[in-house]
Amino acid sequence: MTKSTSCLWVTCPIIIGAGPSGLATAACLKRKGIPSLILERADCIASLWNLKTYDRLCLHLPKKFCDLPFLPFPLDYPSYPTKFQFLEYLESYKNHFDLDPVFNKTVVSAEFDNRYGVWRVVASGLKQEQIEYVSQWLIVATGENADEVIPFIEGVDDFDGPILHTSSYRNGRSYGEKDVLVVGCGNSGMEVALDLANFNARTSLVVRDSVHVLPREMLGISTFGLLMWMLKWFPIRLIDRLVLLVSSFVLGDTEKLGFHPPKVGPLELKSISGKTPVLDVGTIAKIKSGNIKVYPGIKRITYHGAEFVDGRKERFDAIFLATGYKSNVAQWLKGTDLFSEKDGMPREPFPKGWKGEDGLYAVGFTRRGLLGASYVAQRAAEDIELEWRAEPLEFMDFTAPTLSSS
Ligand SMILES: Cc1cc2nc3c(=O)[nH]c(=O)nc-3n(C[C@H](O)[C@H](O)[C@H](O)COP(=O)(O)OP(=O)(O)OC[C@H]3O[C@@H](n4cnc5c(N)ncnc54)[C@H](O)[C@@H]3O)c2cc1C
Repeated sequence: MTKSTSCLWVTCPIIIGAGPSGLATAACLKRKGIPSLILERADCIASLWNLKTYDRLCLHLPKKFCDLPFLPFPLDYPSYPTKFQFLEYLESYKNHFDLDPVFNKTVVSAEFDNRYGVWRVVASGLKQEQIEYVSQWLIVATGENADEVIPFIEGVDDFDGPILHTSSYRNGRSYGEKDVLVVGCGNSGMEVALDLANFNARTSLVVRDSVHVLPREMLGISTFGLLMWMLKWFPIRLIDRLVLLVSSFVLGDTEKLGFHPPKVGPLELKSISGKTPVLDVGTIAKIKSGNIKVYPGIKRITYHGAEFVDGRKERFDAIFLATGYKSNVAQWLKGTDLFSEKDGMPREPFPKGWKGEDGLYAVGFTRRGLLGASYVAQRAAEDIELEWRAEPLEFMDFTAPTLSSS
């Protein structure tokens, strides 16, 4: 039987997650003189970037859209900082605001206690010891990408080689002259395929779903920046048509290469479903030159490789699943309407969905990357400030054990 071993009354807001969103929120609070307690499951900040990304990764969006509040990227960083530069920036951000996350604390449950009007947050440590933290405010900053999505594919246990999620891919050094299949054509899948091809792996890419592929830059300007600018002046559908036209000049007809565009344009799709277009950084050229082969969808994995829905069968030495990530909030946050139990994302899309009842906030769930996270971090801090200035709760004895499981 496991019991909570201790209970801590925290007089400041609790932030779960020391990624960019958690750090940004803590910094915004700090600027208002409000301390916070950051609980982080990993032993480092920004575990997604530190532990789960490939070496060649650069920010997908220009740095001016990825600054965290009150401390811009260094001027000498390139427009698209490398992952190592981004991590360096986050480290200096943490130091600048003197933030001190508590590492190796995985939050396993959080629930509002109506009797006392507080959040009870239970975190598990490295030795499975549990601590219960109690606070008036709870900021969920565990990210849209907390856990890997591993789809079921028939025959997956029969394969005679490694099948790994791209979160464990660093570079293609050990795959030269090997046959490697990348399943999934989002930004990660496309870039991992490119990296493998650059390391002389015989690379194949599964493109099952419809997707918009846009060049990262158009006419020397970042596509994302261009879209943001045009949004101020033109309706979404017109922008979508323009962007797809220019994109077809730059990349050619990607449909011929096996990429079927969705029925609605990239911006409209983003606003309806949150689905992001792929920003090409060279994969399309590799496909055109025959260095990367495209397949339509997997029917089943076989002992030696894969059989595709069009009947082709190929041998592969390794398979990487670029099948994305999901939120883990629904696993541990209970009894709130802010998040959906289905996908652990806010029920209401941005600009709503950042504030729940009883001092609960969601930072980093806008499907708008770091830009959205920074905006919400500031709003949450402003909101908390109002209550912080009001009378704080009297100290209460919360030590009655609430956890017990066998
Ligand atoms: C390959 C890749 C490239 C990207 N490029 C860009 C880009 O260029 N621009 C952009 O704006 N966005 C980009 N993104 C989106 C990315 O999600 C954000 O940049 C950013 O990481 C979001 O920050 P976050 O703090 O919300 O989430 P995360 O970075 O995921 O941080 C969440 C933190 O919470 C911790 N955590 C999770 N669950 C628990 C728990 N139960 N208990 C305690 N701690 C927990 C995690 O360990 C993690 O450290 C990219 C994403 C990927 C995967």
